[in-house]
Amino acid sequence: MAPIQLTQHRTDLHDEVLILGGGVAGCAASIALARKGHRVTLIEREPTPRHKVCGEFLSGEALEDLHALGIDVASLGAAPIDHVRLAAARRAAEAPLPFPAASLTRKALDTALLAEAVATGVKVERGRSVQGLQRVSDVWQATLDDGTTREASTVFLATGKHDLRGHSRPADPQRWVAFKMYFKLSPGQTAELSRASELMLYPGGYGGIQPVEDGIANLCCVVQHKHLPSGGDRWVSFLEKMQRDCPHLAMRLAGAEPLLAKPIAITHIPYGFLRRTTEDGLYCIGDQAAVIPSFTGDGISIALHTARCAVAAYLAGEPAPIFQARMRSALLAQMRLAEFAAGGLNNSFARAVLPFCLRVWPGVMRVTAKLTRVAQQGVVAPDALAH
Ligand SMILES: Cc1cc2nc3c(=O)[nH]c(=O)nc-3n(C[C@H](O)[C@H](O)[C@H](O)COP(=O)(O)OP(=O)(O)OC[C@H]3O[C@@H](n4cnc5c(N)ncnc54)[C@H](O)[C@@H]3O)c2cc1C
Repeated sequence: MAPIQLTQHRTDLHDEVLILGGGVAGCAASIALARKGHRVTLIEREPTPRHKVCGEFLSGEALEDLHALGIDVASLGAAPIDHVRLAAARRAAEAPLPFPAASLTRKALDTALLAEAVATGVKVERGRSVQGLQRVSDVWQATLDDGTTREASTVFLATGKHDLRGHSRPADPQRWVAFKMYFKLSPGQTAELSRASELMLYPGGYGGIQPVEDGIANLCCVVQHKHLPSGGDRWVSFLEKMQRDCPHLAMRLAGAEPLLAKPIAITHIPYGFLRRTTEDGLYCIGDQAAVIPSFTGDGISIALHTARCAVAAYLAGEPAPIFQARMRSALLAQMRLAEFAAGGLNNSFARAVLPFCLRVWPGVMRVTAKLTRVAQQGVVAPDALAH
């Protein structure tokens, strides 16, 4: 009887999928796999969902994928967004978005996604951090912070901004720093910002402000480290500098009340990263597959997209290295276009001529918004997320 037990054990192991990271990509992949009858264990290091540095803009593609996953963002209080504004120095230009969009705090979104994963039958282990991931003969072995291990023949790496030792992404030569802060704006400014996502340019970076649920506004901004004021409270100095450089932001924040004791911040954002390859049985998704410049508001959409494509590839028996290379080619044009546009936003000449560019911005915005969306066709089995 012993050999039969052994065979049974191996079969179980091979059926099981391990997902590392319970953000957008990890949850999306786990829900899709569980719906297809797979046994899935998801490991998320935070015991409860927390605020994350993110502009919290949900593009049309992101909304479609979330809907397919059973997430109704409207019922979670998401703010509808139907136009964008670009502000530099004292000027601003506005354009309607060519797709429906919304804005929802990551805390609310991640809470809903994790709840859906649990409801779908995913075994979610929270408050456990993965410390290492290595291949031991033909299985992957993840070591957790309590010293225990989890094994599976297939792993989806979805740890977002955080790299696992031995699987890290390249350095970030620009040394980007990102901040997020919630504000209660004055009633007049709340009304002005209604249904809009505003992008503001300043030397060394850009920021976005938009309404989220419960009538509050999210200010999320990135800046190259060398442009960050030094000494004292760097956030306070940076916030003052952004408002000096961009009076539009000063107008929005006049009389505003900050809602967090201090901003949430992250460093090391390898914008433009596209993973070239991976090892057998290790599908890399979300920010572990691609990191698009934040101003596009496409990171969540790409996270959902890569999760959906990876699940389809796994179900179709496509080896992970082939999937990863294919994903890279599919996203390459969009990534390079976004990087090119981001270079323009951060270029002092471009900012100097921006007053002229702003005249044509609405038209340009409509075109780039379309061009920088994730191509949905031809990369994924269409029913991978079906109920
Ligand atoms: C400044 C900024 C603004 C942005 N604004 C937008 C925007 O407006 N719209 C948009 O679509 N995208 C935006 N993005 C991008 C978006 O936030 C990411 O692309 C998206 O969150 C990626 O999803 P993910 O699932 O890969 O990672 P995450 O959502 O970050 O999830 C990763 C999860 O893994 C967990 N984890 C990490 N390490 C471990 C570990 N060792 N063990 C276990 N669990 C672990 C984390 O706790 C986390 O829950 C922005 C990004 C930045 C930096």
